[in-house]
Amino acid sequence: ISAKSSQQSSKDGEDRLSVHGVSEMVVGILGGGQLGRMLCQAASQMGIKVLTLDPLENCPASSLSHQHIVGNFNDGSAVLEFAKRCGVLTVEIEHVDVDALKKLEQQGVDCEPKASTIRIIQDKYIQKVHFSHHGIPLPDFMQIDNLKSAEGAGDLFGYPLMIKSRKLAYDGRGNAVAHSKEELSSSVKVLGGYDRGLYVERWTEFVKELAVIVGRGRDGSISCYPVVETIHRDNICHIVEAPADVPESVKKCAMDVAQKAVSSLGGAGVFAVELFLTKDGKVLLNEVAPRPHNSGHHTIESCYTSQYEQHLRAVTGLPLGDPSMKTPAAIMYNILGEDEGEPGFYIAHQLTRRALSIPGASVHWYDKPEMRKQRKMGHITIVGPSMNIVKRRLDLLLERENIGNH
Ligand code: ATP
Ligand code: MG
Ligand code: MG
Repeated sequence: ISAKSSQQSSKDGEDRLSVHGVSEMVVGILGGGQLGRMLCQAASQMGIKVLTLDPLENCPASSLSHQHIVGNFNDGSAVLEFAKRCGVLTVEIEHVDVDALKKLEQQGVDCEPKASTIRIIQDKYIQKVHFSHHGIPLPDFMQIDNLKSAEGAGDLFGYPLMIKSRKLAYDGRGNAVAHSKEELSSSVKVLGGYDRGLYVERWTEFVKELAVIVGRGRDGSISCYPVVETIHRDNICHIVEAPADVPESVKKCAMDVAQKAVSSLGGAGVFAVELFLTKDGKVLLNEVAPRPHNSGHHTIESCYTSQYEQHLRAVTGLPLGDPSMKTPAAIMYNILGEDEGEPGFYIAHQLTRRALSIPGASVHWYDKPEMRKQRKMGHITIVGPSMNIVKRRLDLLLERENIGNH
């Protein structure tokens, strides 16, 4: 570092120039799961210091963060204490103590995205009300408090009816489908009853599910990743194909809806917008995540700037990077937990070993201390010169005969 540049960076006699990386701002992440882990990987490349807060001592991010602090991101006092050590606070999970974040903001702590954004997102019903006020197309929805209001919603929207819990939902845990009026009570019971806070959505006969990741810098600059298709199995993201095989007009519509949705929320970072493409070519918003997302894992290998790097650039106030794809096609395959214990690990191990000899394949293993059925344990991204070739490589990986038979 030249004397000149360090002189230029002097402010009030204090040398503010980073000598160890692109930003000297310490980033605090609430949550230490796989998204936190991959944020740490991107941070390490750029020399950005990341602290993580998670109740699990050996959570996926713990071994890769600059310092891992054991504490609950749902516990206000733990969050307040953690924030003292960070230049900016961000999240890799939206189910955090948002009142603590609000309090920190009032004390001048920088939270990106804003506490108000996390408050909207973490209650799916409030999220839906918010987006409908902003004119964003959504499936019809309605709050339910008892059997009478659930039956009323069923009469209005018809069956099947999607029942969702307002809070603490992920990987489809928190969703239940009632196929008839008679099934309402049992579906509600599965979700823990009306007291949990429920709402319903009209069933959407989608032809595809799409997702768009939008990055927004602290200066308000916006940068949109290519539209991808997400393929779910049992409500959990199973495969992501990038770019999505849909007409240009649909891509444009998906990006418009995504940008409009993100523009209605405050703060910097990447946001993932989950969308439904309907039979008649309409794009409806399903939900937004205020953080990096499963639909953007592929960006690590397939884009000039990964969603993780983009998130760090955004929250630290660095310029956003190029989100475009540097490979023509990519597929991401989630490794979901099988049986508990050793047999499950053995199956996953065989898959990851096979991936090592597939051209264009990269293995990501999250190092979760325990395997549970349907838990996201890792993922494999395959890149290549065309979607057909990438799909064939996935078939090879999964030892499947028929191409494209997910
Ligand atoms: P995530 O892990 O993405 O946070 P989640 O638990 O928040 O998942 P949702 O995104 O609400 O759950 O729903 C999971 C999946 O269920 C969707 O991706 C879609 O496949 C299906 N789904 C959700 N809402 C509807 C709907 N209104 N009609 C039809 N299918 C739906
Ligand atoms: Mg969700
Ligand atoms: Mg979802």
